[in-house]
Amino acid sequence: MPALSYLNPTPGSPWDTYLAQVDQVTPHLGKLARWVETLKHPKRALIVDIPIEMDNGDVAHFEGYRVQHNLSRGPGKGGVRYHPAVTLEEVLALSAWMTIKNAAVNIPYGGAKGGIRVDPKLLSLNELEKLTRRYTSEISIIIGPTKDIPAPDVNTNPQTMAWMMDTFSALQGGTVTGVVTGKPVELGGSLGRVRATGRGVYLTAREAAKTMGMPLEGAKVAVQGFGNVGSIAAELMAQAHAVVVAVQDHSGSLANPAGINIPTLIQHVRSCGGIAGFTEAEAIDEESFWGVDCDIMIPAALEGQVDGPRAQRIKARLLVEGANGPVNREADQILLERGITVVPDVIANAGGVVVSYFEWVQDFSSFFWSEDEINLRLESIQLGAFRDIQQRALALSVPLRTAAYVIACQRVLQAREVRGLYP
Ligand code: GLU
Repeated sequence: MPALSYLNPTPGSPWDTYLAQVDQVTPHLGKLARWVETLKHPKRALIVDIPIEMDNGDVAHFEGYRVQHNLSRGPGKGGVRYHPAVTLEEVLALSAWMTIKNAAVNIPYGGAKGGIRVDPKLLSLNELEKLTRRYTSEISIIIGPTKDIPAPDVNTNPQTMAWMMDTFSALQGGTVTGVVTGKPVELGGSLGRVRATGRGVYLTAREAAKTMGMPLEGAKVAVQGFGNVGSIAAELMAQAHAVVVAVQDHSGSLANPAGINIPTLIQHVRSCGGIAGFTEAEAIDEESFWGVDCDIMIPAALEGQVDGPRAQRIKARLLVEGANGPVNREADQILLERGITVVPDVIANAGGVVVSYFEWVQDFSSFFWSEDEINLRLESIQLGAFRDIQQRALALSVPLRTAAYVIACQRVLQAREVRGLYP
C-alpha cells in the first residue's frame, strides 16, 4: 500500500479534487485564510479490522474506516458505505465533503464518513448483519449522539442502521436511538428520510431550472444511478412533467426520447436488481449515455463519473450533482468553460443529511413530526441555502461550487477561530 499523506493525494482522486476545491476558495476567505490548513487535515481517522465467520465456516477479514474530518461546528455526521472500491483516501474525501455540506446548509455538525471494502452483493443477510455489528463495535469508541452520527450511504439502508443502533445500545447498556440516523421508522427513524436525498435533488434542480428560465414541464432529463437518490429524483421529475429520456446504472444504459416510464422502471429494478432488460426503452452503450440529447443531467451514482471526455460530450445546460463528487477536477473546468451550470453536491444532495438532522432532533426529544412537516422544513432549508449560494455566486462572480465553499468554509473556520486552539 503506498504511503498516504494528506497533502499528497493520488492525482485525479476525490481527495485531490477536494484539496483543489479548498485552494480555489482560499483567496475569498480574507483573514480566515489563516485557518484554512484545518480543512486539509482530517481530525481523526480510524482503520478497523472486521473479522467475521462466514456461512461456510471460513473466517474472512474486511477493512473498515471511520474518518472524522472536522468537528468544529458540532459532532461528526455522514454515512457509511459498503463497496469493493472503498479506500481510506476515498473515505477521507467523502468525510471532508460532509464538513462542507453540513456547513453549506447550516446544520450543526462537523463532517465524517465511514466505509467497508466489501462487495455486499456477495454476502448473505446473516453475514451482512455480522459485518455491520462487528464494524459498529470496532468504531463504537469514537461514535455516539454527541460525538459522531453515522447514516446510510451507498449499499447501506435502514436495516443496516437498525443493526448499528442495536449493537451500540447493547454496548452502552441502554437504548441510544440518536447514535445513527436513517433508521427504520419503528426504531426512532424519521418519516421522509428514505426519500429525502432524491427529493432535495429534485427541489434544487427545479429551483435552478427556474432561475435559468427553463420550465421543468417538457425538460429532457438524464439520470445516472438508479438507487435511492437517482430513482427518487427521476420519479419526482417525471411527476413534475419533465421527460426522463435516459437512465444509466451498474447494469446498463437506457434511452427513450419519448420518456421512460419511471414507476414501471422502479418496479423492474425491484425484481431484477438493475435497469438492464427493461424493454420499454432502447439499450444504449455506456458512453452514448453522456452525449444524449437532454436539458438536465443528474449524475447520482459514484464520485469521478464525469471526467474530461464525458464533460465535453454532455449536451445539458444544467448539471445537478446527486452523487458526492461525481465531477472530477478537469471536468469541472470544462463544464465551466462550456457554460454549463453545475449545482454542486454539497447543496444538491444535502436533503438526506438535513432530514437526518431532523431525525436526530426528534430522537433527542422522543417527539416525532408528521411527514408534511418534515417535507416543508426540508424544502425551506434546501431552497434557502440554494438561494444564499446563488446570491453569493452573483456577488463574487464565481461558480456555484465556489460560492458554496466560501459560505461553508467561512462557517467552519469562524467556529474554529472562536473555539480557539487547546492547549
Ligand atoms: N450519506 C448521505 C450523504 O452523503 C447522508 C449522510 C447523513 O445523513 O448523515 O449526504
